[in-house]
Amino acid sequence: MKKICIINTGGTIGMRAGPNGLRPEPGFIESQLALMPELSSPLMPEITVKEYDPVIDSSNISISDWLKLANDIQESYDRFDGFVVLHGTDTMAYTASALPFMLRGLGKPVVLTGSQLPLSEVRNDARENLKTAIILAAGYEIPEVCIYFGDLLLRGCRATKFSATSFKAFVSPNYPPLGSAGTRMEVFEHRILPVPKGDGPVVEPLKSQEIATFRLFPGVSVEVLENVLRRPLKALILESFGDGNGPSQNIAFVDCIRRACDDGILILNLSQCSQATIHQTVYETGAVMEQAGVISGCDLTLEAALAKLMHLFTKPLPVDEVKRLMQQSLVGELTEPKN
Ligand code: ASP
Repeated sequence: MKKICIINTGGTIGMRAGPNGLRPEPGFIESQLALMPELSSPLMPEITVKEYDPVIDSSNISISDWLKLANDIQESYDRFDGFVVLHGTDTMAYTASALPFMLRGLGKPVVLTGSQLPLSEVRNDARENLKTAIILAAGYEIPEVCIYFGDLLLRGCRATKFSATSFKAFVSPNYPPLGSAGTRMEVFEHRILPVPKGDGPVVEPLKSQEIATFRLFPGVSVEVLENVLRRPLKALILESFGDGNGPSQNIAFVDCIRRACDDGILILNLSQCSQATIHQTVYETGAVMEQAGVISGCDLTLEAALAKLMHLFTKPLPVDEVKRLMQQSLVGELTEPKN
């Protein structure tokens, strides 16, 4: 019989109403699982639940929680066929983007899921997400960290939360789904990473880094940007327009980003359009970015870009090496530019 470990970090799925709104309820998930007859079907795996103390709203997730998750998965790796991580939706895509960099050599499924409505509600998306995540983690060869939510299986480091209200809360704007679970369950093998060689994942720790994001808009204050681009900042994710364009006629803006790049601050260009690939050569307004020393973030999500920068700067690597690796796919997080 297959064996699955459910790690419950918290999130709406196991919440109940408190005096100040929904809050995670310790022990609730386990008590609810015991009441689900479907889970005792011979088609289901043996389930072990590990609940974190405290269970949290994912807005409170921290890098130490990511490290705990990575270590727990690594330590119990040989005892289970797959892992289901219950997690709040608010930051699920951040965790699903960080874990692949931290669990290098992962050969089993790690499926993050949660819900928009708690299991305690009569109408909810929790039961379906939970059961299907368990089936996916137990029955398929998916050597990846993924998100299963609202009938889609997505690569974790390609996913982003798209809706705060729909049961289909997540999208993967620049990589197709790894699977879907409508009336038929389908996993698209050709989109899944190859099974790595080796005995299991090695945990690569990740530390908080001096990184910021900055969104361009018409009329943006260069003075504010200048203040952001000060040490100890190591890297700035510049959220640009369309293909990676910026206000090229604003000399102060162009000078400001050029000075920062010359000073060794890594500026990564990401588009404000979630479905996009950065091309800094299509328009003159993109070419100025390239000429100033801004590097392309390709088709990374913001979540994956942050996780990757944290990962590379934690190693630590010199900025030129970080720039080089930002153009390469390390864990399936981006589509490499064609030269
Ligand atoms: N605030 C909740 C959380 O992220 C939202 C959810 O789970 O859907 O924990």
